[in-house]
Amino acid sequence: YSINPQRMKVFKFGGASSNTVERIINTGNIIKSFKGEKILIIISAMGKTTNALEKVVDAFFAGRKEDALQLFEQVKESHLSTLKYLITLNWQQAENQLKDFFTEVEWLLHDKPVRGYDYYYDQIVCCGELLSTSLVSIYLNEAGVKNKWVDVRDIVRTDDNFRDAYINWNYTQQKVKADIEPLFTDFDIVITQGFIGATDENESTTLGREGSDFSAAIFANILDAESQTIWKDVEAVMNADPKEFADAENIYALSYREVVEMAYYGAQVIHPKTIKPLENKNIPLHVRCFLNPQLPGTVISSKPVHNLPPVIVLKKDQVLMELSSKDFSFVEEKPMSQLHEMFASIKIRPNLSQNGAISLLCCLDDKAEKIEKLALAASEIFDVQIEKNLTLLTIRHYTPEKIQELTKGKTIVLEQKTTETIQVLMR
Ligand code: ASP
Ligand code: MG
Repeated sequence: YSINPQRMKVFKFGGASSNTVERIINTGNIIKSFKGEKILIIISAMGKTTNALEKVVDAFFAGRKEDALQLFEQVKESHLSTLKYLITLNWQQAENQLKDFFTEVEWLLHDKPVRGYDYYYDQIVCCGELLSTSLVSIYLNEAGVKNKWVDVRDIVRTDDNFRDAYINWNYTQQKVKADIEPLFTDFDIVITQGFIGATDENESTTLGREGSDFSAAIFANILDAESQTIWKDVEAVMNADPKEFADAENIYALSYREVVEMAYYGAQVIHPKTIKPLENKNIPLHVRCFLNPQLPGTVISSKPVHNLPPVIVLKKDQVLMELSSKDFSFVEEKPMSQLHEMFASIKIRPNLSQNGAISLLCCLDDKAEKIEKLALAASEIFDVQIEKNLTLLTIRHYTPEKIQELTKGKTIVLEQKTTETIQVLMR
């Protein structure tokens, strides 16, 4: 009996860590190397499965049932083929488990859509993580890593704001304490899904794309984990996207605060909601490379980090919307609050905005359908002008040289600056 019970770890493996049989075996080897530790593991949908499932939803909702079934067939085949090469003894159990999830989706695809798009999205897309975690769990049990698979929809309770569901923390906490914690008496490893949850009506929900990081943080918080580790295919968090910037560099230590800021400005490092549950319990977050687990990766904690290199985020395909009052009256509270309601109902958020006396500038992602809707709605109150094909550059810890280098040859259409961050919208 121990007076100092072992604190567990929470791991999250992204889709790239399970997109081939070799990768799943590699993931298994990493888990094996933590023998004797208690770990809650969250695994994303394999590879590009979530994108593939989104296409199924689109086809289904557009009334193209045959296409939807055909597209879903491809998702089935890729999982069944992984199963075939990965699992040798318990393949029948594995196949039955996968087929149950296939059937759930296919039943739905045979109906006609009568509810909203977002509802169907969640019912269909959630199967990606159910399939991947089932495969990995059965494989690991077969490879000698005893583990328990859990359907997270019995644990994580949300509201019914489909595609962006909000966690019911109280209920979820009770469930984790009652149903997850005791599993660690018999098992060192518990495997479950991120990104998904369920309503109290048992409808599946999702928490927003890339939401698995956040799910892992929810578990880390409730389980009082010693640490959370996100296993990715990069060596560490970088100060810029290496595909865009050849001189991008690794950052080995970051503060919670810096990561929240980076995510807010659109750096594709970690899901923005991930940090709060960890910060609130001072749980360090590690980002490590599953391709080379010897590397230290990045640690994110409450410790302030100084002398960071300029952190650069580029957002392409930006739209500048200029909203001007129709009769030279000031843009006041009422039209502003109407505008905020439009943003909320269309589910779009400006990446940058600037108010003037009789006009307002907003920089938005170019999601064509939403932009059209917004422009139409806003034109009831404002004159609306739109410019497309702009790029939004954000530099944290900027230097004059960096700004000059990255804006050279561009026309700046909007600029905002604080002591730490500069944002420039460029043509
Ligand atoms: N599979 C989901 C996605 O690709 C969730 C995640 O991986 O975090 O968005
Ligand atoms: Mg992912």
